[in-house]
Amino acid sequence: MQIDPHTGLLQGARQCPSPNYNARPDPGDISLLVIHGISLPPQQFGGDAIDRFFTNCLDPAQHPYFREICDLQVSAHLLIRRNGELVQYVPFGERAWHAGDSQFAGRTNCNDFSIGIELEGSDELPYEPVQYQQLQAVTRLVQQAYPAITRERIVGHCDIAPGRKTDPGPAFDWARLMAAL
Ligand SMILES: [Zn+2]
Repeated sequence: MQIDPHTGLLQGARQCPSPNYNARPDPGDISLLVIHGISLPPQQFGGDAIDRFFTNCLDPAQHPYFREICDLQVSAHLLIRRNGELVQYVPFGERAWHAGDSQFAGRTNCNDFSIGIELEGSDELPYEPVQYQQLQAVTRLVQQAYPAITRERIVGHCDIAPGRKTDPGPAFDWARLMAAL
């Protein structure tokens, strides 16, 4: 597994390109890693709803919750599924739309300078051991490719959008991630 510095693609990930991205204002500033949790429908795992959501193909008839969110245009760079599968939606060099209204260390619009990694999960349910293994491996690669992402600059969505977002939730074991870095 490695990151191609020219394409910003993770070799070893399944590529599922999302249209929901644009250019970073400063492509040389990639200095924050944001960890998210997502499941669609909420607290249900498996299926193709996350791929569909990030590619604007979610079927609003399939679930009441899908009706609420199907018009949102969002994405993340990477998803780590419950079985450890890696799915990439946006090249790391591009600006994925994962953080929304956000702030870190006095700077707003964290999408401009961050990488967003989703874990398939839910705030209160333990994440899978294989997800930690994959997240640890990917984070090390990301830090090698983008050295400005120091330990102190790896945060949860909850940390940059408090009061609005709670993911990856109390179930996420930060010490387990940090121990491997
Ligand atoms: Zn999130």
